[in-house]
Amino acid sequence: MIRVGLGRDLHRLVQGRRFLLAGVELEADRGELGHSDGDVLAHAVTDAVLGAAGLGDIGALFPPSDPKWKDADSMELLRIAFGKVKEQGWRLQNLDCVVTCETPRLIPYRERIRASLAAALDAGPAAIFVKGKTAEGLGPIGAGEAVDAEAICLLEKIL
Ligand code: MG
Repeated sequence: MIRVGLGRDLHRLVQGRRFLLAGVELEADRGELGHSDGDVLAHAVTDAVLGAAGLGDIGALFPPSDPKWKDADSMELLRIAFGKVKEQGWRLQNLDCVVTCETPRLIPYRERIRASLAAALDAGPAAIFVKGKTAEGLGPIGAGEAVDAEAICLLEKIL
């Protein structure tokens, strides 16, 4: 059996916060606002794998109302979520992601981001791809006020 999953997230960008994508810090003058560390890509990927396995979503698993998750490492949340996915007998076939922000450019960081996701998801980097886009200066993303991430994954049941 195979299942697809889709995840999407958006975070406001503000000064004084780190700009993290899948645990990799990008050099930027603003970073993601959030209850956790704000890692928008980690959140989108977490929702994609949970959705594919029918295990709910990141907000249900790690409620923002729970102080336990304040400033949480979102890659740790992804590892916990994917652990639950694996317990149900799923493994990742592939993951494809799009990150949209005006700056910084993603390309110099892409291989590190792929490797970070691959390690968290028990996959080879070849099974993971991440693309960077801009919003062509339009809307809040184009104004540098937000970053958006989308992720789609395919899981295969092996048990
Ligand atoms: Mg989020």
